[in-house]
Amino acid sequence: MFSKFSRRFFHLSCRTRNVRVRFAPSPTGYIHLGGLRTALYNFLFAKANNGQFILRIEDTDQKRLVPGAANQLEMDLDWMGLSPDESPMKNGTFGPYTQSERLCLYNQFVVELIKSGHAYHCFCSERRLEFVKKEAIREGAIPRYDNRCRQLSSSQVEEKKQHGMTSCIRFKLSSLEEPLQDLVYGDVDRNAVLHEGDPVIMKQDGYPTYHLANVIDDHLMGITHVLRGTEWLVSTAKHVLLYKAFGWHPPRFAHLPLITNADGTKLSKRQDDIRLDYFRSQGFYPEAIIGLLCLVGGGFSSSIDIQQNLHSLPELAKSAVSQHIQEDLT
Ligand code: GLU
Repeated sequence: MFSKFSRRFFHLSCRTRNVRVRFAPSPTGYIHLGGLRTALYNFLFAKANNGQFILRIEDTDQKRLVPGAANQLEMDLDWMGLSPDESPMKNGTFGPYTQSERLCLYNQFVVELIKSGHAYHCFCSERRLEFVKKEAIREGAIPRYDNRCRQLSSSQVEEKKQHGMTSCIRFKLSSLEEPLQDLVYGDVDRNAVLHEGDPVIMKQDGYPTYHLANVIDDHLMGITHVLRGTEWLVSTAKHVLLYKAFGWHPPRFAHLPLITNADGTKLSKRQDDIRLDYFRSQGFYPEAIIGLLCLVGGGFSSSIDIQQNLHSLPELAKSAVSQHIQEDLT
């Protein structure tokens, strides 16, 4: 199953647009096999299509930052041979490539969403939010925000602000009319509005949440294909709605099935034996680690013998592309 998904993914290519993909880790820890595999697939996809591979650091959750992790991530990619074409250290025309350096941009776009009626100030306290959740659980309903502040008029908002009340900004969720088309999973029916309340897009501290910053940056950085772990599939409907609210064309999405432990549990950043550091300290060469990652459902064509031999990155990219430049994804 795993390799079936991956095989389908590698069969994709793009003939008419300049492919731009990104690896967008949060610097909350050091890179492990799961992250490396996402980076590898993005890198190969870019190389197979004469496109660009971008590294973007998503550090909007300031509480979870690990000092030094962002720089280490980029050095680790370089060590693996997966050097990005644009990144915080290398820079490029679409920078800065670290989200905490792009706060002004997110602010401008939030103002636009509020003006166009797609977002609103929410003054609900933590205490109220907790209460709403608990009540829902007690009634056997989905614990979610009840969208109460949607109803506030602009004069009510002004009044609250004048009283010194702080707010976050929420995005008005609506139904997505058509299913999402994922390049790996096919049609995905996920109507976010049925499962959650309006999501926060800008926190009280003035930092955007992942959803907002991710969409704005993918758009502004000209990302054509978003290849990321399948844990983000549940968020993609929200992202598509944000693209619509801005009047932007969304990129194509491909969600990659997760690598799991042998017992099916999720890999965790706390597991030492899946960290790149661990393999490096044990004397593994980058080529061997890449060989291992390709074996985990890489779906390479039978013309390339990845079971028995190690292959260079250009060979792997060539194998990915030689199979199928067939599908027009524009
Ligand atoms: N910052 C997210 C992560 O750490 C990125 C998800 C995405 O690629 O959209 O996985």
